[in-house]
Amino acid sequence: MALLINELCINCDVCAPECPNRAITQGAEIYEIDPRRCTECVGHFAEPQCIEVCPVECILVDPGCVETREALLTKYERLTSGGNP
Ligand code: SF4
Ligand code: SF4
Repeated sequence: MALLINELCINCDVCAPECPNRAITQGAEIYEIDPRRCTECVGHFAEPQCIEVCPVECILVDPGCVETREALLTKYERLTSGGNP
């Protein structure tokens, strides 16, 4: 399951540098997470780093992007071996 940033985002830029998969970028209105790159931090950390640092708790799991832990690990392996998202 990739994560989703909701409209409470204050564009503080704290989360983006913490993402090990470079999945977070500034969008037109608020920051956005690319679901092709978000592994929920599986493979890198025990907890999603963006959720840990976000001061307004606006990062949630995306119910429209459900993935198993195995799928997230496969995504992690693809990204860390230089593959395309
Ligand atoms: Fe990046 Fe991890 Fe947040 Fe996904 S959960 S956007 S991989 S920091
Ligand atoms: Fe938005 Fe939270 Fe990221 Fe700040 S840390 S840019 S409030 S999602």
